[in-house]
This record gives sequence, structure tokens and C-alpha cells, in this order.
Amino acid sequence: MRRGYVLLAKHKHRKEGRRATSSMMSRPIEHSQDAITAEEMAGATAVPSTTLTEQEVPKQNNACIILPSSLLRCQGLTLLTPIVVTTLMSPKKVKPPPAPPPEVAPRHPATTATTFLGRKGLGAYIASPEPFPPSRVISYSEKFVVINDLYPKSSVHLLLLSRDPAKTLLHPFDALGDKDFLAEVQSEVSKLRTLVAKELRRRYGRFSVQDKAREQAMEADSLPSEEQLPLGRDWSKEVVSGVHAHPSMSHLHIHILSVDRESDCMRHRKHYNSFATPFLIPIEDFPLPPNDRRRHPGREGYLHSDLKCWRCGKNFGSKFARLKDHLAEEFETWKSE
Ligand SMILES: [Zn+2]
Ligand SMILES: [Zn+2]
Repeated sequence: MRRGYVLLAKHKHRKEGRRATSSMMSRPIEHSQDAITAEEMAGATAVPSTTLTEQEVPKQNNACIILPSSLLRCQGLTLLTPIVVTTLMSPKKVKPPPAPPPEVAPRHPATTATTFLGRKGLGAYIASPEPFPPSRVISYSEKFVVINDLYPKSSVHLLLLSRDPAKTLLHPFDALGDKDFLAEVQSEVSKLRTLVAKELRRRYGRFSVQDKAREQAMEADSLPSEEQLPLGRDWSKEVVSGVHAHPSMSHLHIHILSVDRESDCMRHRKHYNSFATPFLIPIEDFPLPPNDRRRHPGREGYLHSDLKCWRCGKNFGSKFARLKDHLAEEFETWKSE
């Protein structure tokens, strides 16, 4: 508490000195509203592939599922214009880029270490998405970068980052208050929702009752065209997208994730509640009315509220381990719907 007070006091002091030069400055920072830990903030930036051998890719990659860019191609989906789709992320081993031996390779290049620490971690992708492996940066254009969340909270979890220097460090409430910008973001999010939906079908379609006829048709000797295929399950209904009422990372980012909340990186109550309560504000709810309660996440107590299953609403109080067990069961049932 004491530390929080000191930070707030400092913040206030600076604000008075600089007369609220930006909206970040004018908004009191609610440190207790961080949904992620300092460790996660510090790890938000993976080291670009040019300095990583395959073995050095952060461990989270094992738990955190990767959206292959092959999907982008085979679906003929244009994500961003002009799009730069990174190299094919096939399940087969991709030849790792030439790299110096691990003991010689600097784990954190000077630019990454000095410029994009902690809350600023996402800045590395915005400044220079090129060196990152396709497992991290899915696509980029002049305006946006799309990455796989390093600490996903669902089985598929993307982040859309804006590269607009006038917007990237604004609080989402302020950035998305600009109608033109909001329209651009909503359009990108809509394409990403389609992408995530296709990825969900690719992964889980074979378990789904609603996709059964479609799956069978696809296995037929003569492959039918997309129009001839049974529609199957509407996976787009299984995708959520939005911003956090109090983002832990400084750079504007929009979450696009599957509804399952099934991930090894989901580790405590704040993690879960940041994606299962009004703390996550759907992108379609913007522009947010001035009197919207979600503008005051601390006062509303979203992160500290009871743990409730996203699917059946069962209340687990503060029993996170029990919720996790339950979510694992719900994940199987959800897939099979
Ligand atoms: Zn966030
Ligand atoms: Zn449930």
C-alpha cells in the first residue's frame, strides 16, 4: 500500500509540474489493478530470432500455442494492407536462422534491454517487428502489428498493436475515442476474429458435433469447394476481443482470444478475472460513454471478484485451483459442442 501511495504521490507531483501533457498522465494509475505480474511484464518482449537459436526460444512457447501463418495463406485471408506475412509456420522443423553459439549470443540486445523494459515491452514489436520469428509476430503493416501473446490466457490469444505514434501510448479509452482510429481498429479486429475462428476450427473441428458433417465432407475423395461444404459450427461466436480497463502494458493493445480461457499461463485470480469480468471491454462497446462503470475498474472491484466459470457461471469464490480443474473439463465439453 505504502509503495502505491508513493507512486501516486509522485505521479500527482509530475502532473502538476507538466500540466497533463498526455492522457496517460492525467489518469491516476491504479497499480493494484494490474492483472499481470512484474515477471510477465519483464518477459513481454521475446528476443528477436536473429539472436536466438531454436533452443533459446522462451519456454512459454511450449505452453503457448502458436497460430501458424500457413493458415493465413490457405484461407486466402488478407489481414493487413499491405500485409507482410512472415514465413510459413509449419509443424515440420523450420531451419533455424544462423545464430552465434548460445554462450556468445547476447540474450538481450542493447536496444531491447534499454528501451523496452517492463511496461514498455510491447514497444519492441511496434518499433521493429521484422526480426521476430513467425511464432511471435504473425503479421505487420505500416499501421499495425499482430503478435501471439507471450503469456496467452486462452488456447488462442493474439494482440493487435497500433503503430500510430500519436496513439500507441494513450490509454485505450482515449485512443479509441477517436472515431476514425476506432473504425480502423475495429476493422482489423474483425479480420483477426475471423482468423482466430478459422484456427479454432482447424484445431478443434474434429471434436465438434456441429462440425461433423463438414469434417466428413472434407475427407471425401473429391474435395468439395468451400461453398459446397456444410457450414458447420460458427466458431466466430467462440472468440472475444477487447481492451483491459486498466492495461498493465503501456502500449495500446487489443486482445483477440478464444473464449476457453484454457492455458498454462492462466495462473491466478487476477489473470482469470481480467478476461472473465467487465475488466475486459469488448471492442464493439467503444466509444465508451463518459459515465460507463468500466472506466473505474478499481472501484468496481472486477479483479478481486469471485471466480465464476465463463461457461456455466458456477461460482468458485477464491478457489482458483478448483476453477482450473473445472475449466479443463469445460474445455473438453466446449470443444465437443
Ligand atoms: Zn492487456
Ligand atoms: Zn462451468
